[in-house]
Amino acid sequence: MPICVHVLDHPQGRVLVDTGLTRLHPAVADLDPLLDPLDAQDFDIGSIDVVVNTHLHFDHCGGNHLFTGTPIYVQRQELSDARSLNDYTIPEWVDPPGVHYVPVDGEFELFPGIRLLPAPGHTRGTQIVVVEQDEHPVVIAGDAAVWPGELDDPSTEGQLLIRSLEPRAVWMAHAHDPWRP
Ligand SMILES: [Zn+2]
Repeated sequence: MPICVHVLDHPQGRVLVDTGLTRLHPAVADLDPLLDPLDAQDFDIGSIDVVVNTHLHFDHCGGNHLFTGTPIYVQRQELSDARSLNDYTIPEWVDPPGVHYVPVDGEFELFPGIRLLPAPGHTRGTQIVVVEQDEHPVVIAGDAAVWPGELDDPSTEGQLLIRSLEPRAVWMAHAHDPWRP
């Protein structure tokens, strides 16, 4: 199962959606992850202006420590749950020194044409990123759908929301190819 992150190049800034994971941790050693962290790839960490976390499970925020000084947008509900619920994530990966969150309450326009929308289901604080493209947007869904079949037969509030947007493509964190209608 891949752990993908996504980059949006917008005229007003470069956006990174989720940060993957960059190191091992005893709590998830049984997953035997093959690490390919952002800071070891041909990728300019410093080029990122804004980070968005779809949610704060460890495999989505494990690279947040690379982005001290960069605003990280997350739903307030998600941040609260990640900081307070047991066995939710790896807490020290959520709040490493110097990481600065911008809590969001509901829908939020990040840049013109890029919106954050709450999409509960996978977690109650999950958000998706909607990129307007003429009639049919592109969606970056994080784990709102973990595999494409979930969007063929949507069941959660978040999945139903995604389908209601009539997207041309939905990129997920754990699939190499996007879902398409
Ligand atoms: Zn997750």
